[in-house]
Amino acid sequence: MSDTQILVDRLLEIMGEAVVVTAPDGGRTQISKAFEIATGHAGREVGDAATLLGEHFMRSAMAADAGGQWQGAVRCGDGNDRNFEVTVTPINGDGGVPRHYLGLVRPAQVVAAAAESNRFGYDTLTGLPNRDLFIDRVGQSVLQANRTGGSVALMVMGLDRFTLVNDALGHSAGDRLLVEIARRLKTCVRETDTAVRLDGDKFALVLAIADVDDSVIVAEKVLSSVKEPFSLDGQEVVATFSIGISVLPLDADSGAQMVKHAEHALHYAKTSGRNQYQFFSKDMNRKARSRLELETRLRRALANDEFVVFYQPKVSADRDAIVGAEALIRWMDPERGLISPAEFIPVAEESGQIEPIGSWVLWKSCQQNMLWQAAGLAPIKVSVNVSARQFHSRTLIEKVVEVLRQTGLDPKWLELEITESMLMNDVDVAVRKMKALRDLGIGLSIDDFGTGYSSLSYLGQFPITTLKIDRAFIADVDTNPKTAEIARAIIGLSRGLNLEVVAEGAEVAAHINFLRDNGCDTVQGFYYSRPVPADEFEKMMRQTVMVRC
Ligand code: C2E
Ligand code: MG
Ligand code: MG
Repeated sequence: MSDTQILVDRLLEIMGEAVVVTAPDGGRTQISKAFEIATGHAGREVGDAATLLGEHFMRSAMAADAGGQWQGAVRCGDGNDRNFEVTVTPINGDGGVPRHYLGLVRPAQVVAAAAESNRFGYDTLTGLPNRDLFIDRVGQSVLQANRTGGSVALMVMGLDRFTLVNDALGHSAGDRLLVEIARRLKTCVRETDTAVRLDGDKFALVLAIADVDDSVIVAEKVLSSVKEPFSLDGQEVVATFSIGISVLPLDADSGAQMVKHAEHALHYAKTSGRNQYQFFSKDMNRKARSRLELETRLRRALANDEFVVFYQPKVSADRDAIVGAEALIRWMDPERGLISPAEFIPVAEESGQIEPIGSWVLWKSCQQNMLWQAAGLAPIKVSVNVSARQFHSRTLIEKVVEVLRQTGLDPKWLELEITESMLMNDVDVAVRKMKALRDLGIGLSIDDFGTGYSSLSYLGQFPITTLKIDRAFIADVDTNPKTAEIARAIIGLSRGLNLEVVAEGAEVAAHINFLRDNGCDTVQGFYYSRPVPADEFEKMMRQTVMVRC
């Protein structure tokens, strides 16, 4: 393959535009990855442009000296026709003779929306008013309400898990979803109300209302209007919204305050399980402030070396010997002292800071494990928790490879702990990622098993090595026959699937006895040890038998 062809191939692979390149006779057609995603046609070499795009394309290609352009139906990979606008440009060789034709392909609805919105204050993708106009409209509605004694409701809405659509189907499909959502939103409000696209997957509605109930009606309408599945590239996509609502004069007295309060309510809706609306309340305001403070301090924590990794032993109950460890992050905040990961990990997850923090924990734990091995201790497997955002990150695999390379740790001494809820959104993508991780030679464990969606039908598909029984099932395993039965069932399930099983939260001898008697030998819990700093953990490893606390 020539250098030029390699370059062209690579360009077609990475470019964001849906593009088709063809020879003057319509043969030797090549398409970009974005074209594949937009039209569902697979393969870079697809033969004949006329077969692919219809005779239109060739005709406009012939007339392309004048900037050929046509809009029309294109047969897509799923057999359905979809409307596109294609702009064809000749690429001339010597003597001005066309050597290739380049077609730029855009969904017609996106083009129409862009044309409509070529005015200041409008979003180019959806044609809705944008943030500039939004501020203006909120201000006007507030003035009007103050004059007439009326009320205004502001709804700020975020699509739930929009990045998943972008990741799975590509940005062009994501754009089409946003355009369709905008269309549906417009049908939920009256002419006099305003629907806005703020940015990304965030929309807003500004409504003049007579009564708070009016905003409830609209919020319900919005939730049910997006519930109808969208068809994108032959795939059905179901979208949901989280909505935050503030009402003037009930809980705000200015436009700026309305926006702030609706944002707080949106955050609350997202963290309370999504696919719902929440009205602003004063308590939310207080919580939002302390969360923001935490986020700001968290931003400095990594650079200021405020994190430490503690290790909690996993012990073979038969032999009272350490067989592994779980790495658990600790944050020593100079102002507030030790802050629990249960408090700051969700904040780091939402603000995106979990990625650098998680990479640091991974690196630190692998390095520590190598240090223990270098000190002559018997090698053990260290488990590192991976958050949802880290798991879904495109760079997770690269990061794991990089850390293993940097630290020189044999992959068999590393295990990642993930939770079921991370896997259920798109099972195929998750399974592929898990396989890629397993191919590196590392272990994969399902953490807190039994508390998530627990879809047993998927469990067999997941290429995992370990199940960790959540401590909720261990806490009263010795006193509650029902819990005991569940714990026994999980242990049996692990055996049947040939998985290692670890019980979390074993605190007393009765827990250990139950687990040992029922075939769960590996336990982790305060009975043996709390999570401790690396040097204390090393001391424990040097004892041949665990001294119980
Ligand atoms: P997890 O992964 O399920 O970790 C086990 C938690 O149970 C730890 O809490 C541990 O201290 C606690 N635990 C262990 N044995 C017992 C016991 O016998 N009784 C009781 N009551 N608790 C026990 P910790 O360290 O506070 O961590 C809480 C959660 O924070 C972890 O739950 C994990 O989801 C998350 N987390 C901790 N470190 C990291 C990290 O580095 N990255 C990520 N993404 N999450 C982390
Ligand atoms: Mg864990
Ligand atoms: Mg756990």
